[in-house]
Amino acid sequence: MKVLIADDDRITRMLVKSYLNKWGYQSLEAEDGEQAWQILQDESPHLVVVDWMMPKMDGPDLCRRLRALGGADCYYYIILLTSRDSKEDIINGLNAGADDYITKPFMPQELEMRLRVGKRILELQQSLQESLEAQRYQAQHDALTGFLNHVEILKTLEQELSRAERQQRNLTLMMGDLDHFKKVNDTFGHLAGDAVLVEVARRIRNDLRIYDAVGRYGGEEFLMVLPGCTPEEAELVADRILNSISSQPVLFRDSVIPVTISLGLAFNKVNGHTDLNEIVQAADTAMYLAKQNGRNRYEIMGL
Ligand code: GH3
Ligand code: MG
Ligand code: MG
Repeated sequence: MKVLIADDDRITRMLVKSYLNKWGYQSLEAEDGEQAWQILQDESPHLVVVDWMMPKMDGPDLCRRLRALGGADCYYYIILLTSRDSKEDIINGLNAGADDYITKPFMPQELEMRLRVGKRILELQQSLQESLEAQRYQAQHDALTGFLNHVEILKTLEQELSRAERQQRNLTLMMGDLDHFKKVNDTFGHLAGDAVLVEVARRIRNDLRIYDAVGRYGGEEFLMVLPGCTPEEAELVADRILNSISSQPVLFRDSVIPVTISLGLAFNKVNGHTDLNEIVQAADTAMYLAKQNGRNRYEIMGL
């Protein structure tokens, strides 16, 4: 873990640095508050030992500036190192945002232990942050396919529709529904059905561009949002998806499972407002039309 030592006294810096290295920390040095601030920006050490009295910016000011950054995901643990040891000074230092303080001259063991407390808190904060991110990911994605879930793909569609409207650009929406999927489950079992969904999702993802969004809209229904995609291009993409899914059966254990999908396409109004429900409804109607007209095909529905 990186530790920044900010102190205008060279001897103190050298001393602290030698201890830090001995205790297994990577040390960074600053000789005034401005330099400390710069290093914090460039190298983002999160454990900071800062002297109270320094030129350009003193310790409490540096604390205040760091705290003003906010952001729970980038906490700085600040230990104020000071020769001022009155109760009032300590209160002021903590009030400025320091987490802890050590008075000079300090015992090396004391610094070591207080650094260890800081490290523990930072590690705890990081693991909380990671689990928060994992939870956020889970809340937005479908566990089976890894695609966005129903709510998130609609949110994405809403954002992309308004962006397309602002930029007067094309947007294509595709609704896909696997054909006779109930029969897949009935014939090969539910696990095989799951494996088909995963494989179909992989093929769809491969057929799309990186900035296209795709979600699992329902059980065996997928919603694809293609920003900047014209109707002509959309038909090519639709053909590609139909082909990549139907041309090779899905293999699961000893089963060879043929799969096809029906697609419904709808396009935004490039020079006007497109209602979210209207375009979803149009893609849905087009998809049902594709079912009626024989499946393993796409149809288009105007708004
Ligand atoms: P159609 O061609 O008209 O779409 O026929 P279908 O059989 O695909 O349509 P239907 O809506 O009757 O059946 C969808 C089936 O998808 C029923 C349901 O059991 C299955 N299904 C939905 N979600 C999952 C899932 O997560 N895993 C598996 N294995 N099956 C699922
Ligand atoms: Mg179906
Ligand atoms: Mg369905």
